[in-house]
Amino acid sequence: MHRVCVIPGDGIGPEVMDACLKVLENLTDNLKFVHAEIGVNAYKKYGKYLPEETVQLLQHTDACLFGALTTPSSPDYRSPLLAIRQGLKLYANVRPVRTLLPGRPEIDMVIIRENTEDLYVGLEEYHGSYAVAAKIVTREASERIVNFALDYARKHGRKKIACVHKSNVLRKTDGLFAEIFREKVADEEVETEEVYVDTCALRLVTSPERFDVILTLNLYGDILSDLAAGLVGGLGFAPSANIGESYAMFEPVHGSAPDIAGKDAANPTAMILSAAMMLDYLKMEEEAARIRKAIAAVYASGVKTRDIGGETGTKKFADLIVKEIEKGS
Ligand code: ATP
Repeated sequence: MHRVCVIPGDGIGPEVMDACLKVLENLTDNLKFVHAEIGVNAYKKYGKYLPEETVQLLQHTDACLFGALTTPSSPDYRSPLLAIRQGLKLYANVRPVRTLLPGRPEIDMVIIRENTEDLYVGLEEYHGSYAVAAKIVTREASERIVNFALDYARKHGRKKIACVHKSNVLRKTDGLFAEIFREKVADEEVETEEVYVDTCALRLVTSPERFDVILTLNLYGDILSDLAAGLVGGLGFAPSANIGESYAMFEPVHGSAPDIAGKDAANPTAMILSAAMMLDYLKMEEEAARIRKAIAAVYASGVKTRDIGGETGTKKFADLIVKEIEKGS
């Protein structure tokens, strides 16, 4: 039995999480869910955005499923998600992008994003009339993520890794990342290329089928993965994993989407696919495959969720997946 920490969050988080748990509960008895809170909900209850109770639960579970969180405007706010990623050293952000909708280009790529440094270290300062942000790139974190990408490619039969950076301008930071990539892949069988981030954005739009694994720094990974999600239907289709040495957290790429919260309009596909990634991580590959097969079958049958102009709401979509899983078993 695996213990899973469940953090629905707010906005559409609880809705997509309910849909996801419904699917998981109908799929297997091998998961025990323990619920926790972070963000504004946690602040109301415990006076902290990341309460100690949640940190304890994370430390005593095998993985975490997370929904979505609204960022409040309060100046003392420090993202509990960033704190979790940094505290638990979840250094690899993995974002698969696959075509599910009929009539779209055949895309099957995965974006692997360094998750701990770059411009996201939070070192920003005002200096009179200007502001400065620090971009940190270390040898240690770069080696760790390149090794992760190589290992991922081996395990998943991926053939080509594109290292995406901007070392022609950022010669020292991105330059170090690129140099480490070159060092590490020199004796590897996998095909490799280096692509500047602007060229990568262009190619993602003009010929996305050519990409297999994209390995990149934190900020570029954040931006490019939203772009890539747009190619396959939008944020409702983009799952992700944050993976560390001994723990992992799985969450949709999208945020809390307050504009559609509470309306049964959110597409839970990204959340459910994130749960499938968690099942792979927990070595429940067969169950993960059953989820993916059911989702593919439901879309292939012509079902359209509201985000892509259809009528199927969050709850109905979950019911369709459950039915499809039951058919397949
Ligand atoms: P954050 O800053 O919290 O990451 P964001 O600004 O990237 O959030 P999101 O909340 O991710 O914004 O979503 C942007 C828009 O995309 C939403 O307002 C919503 O209309 C749409 N959207 C996002 N996720 C979904 C989903 N699962 N289903 C349907 N529409 C979605």
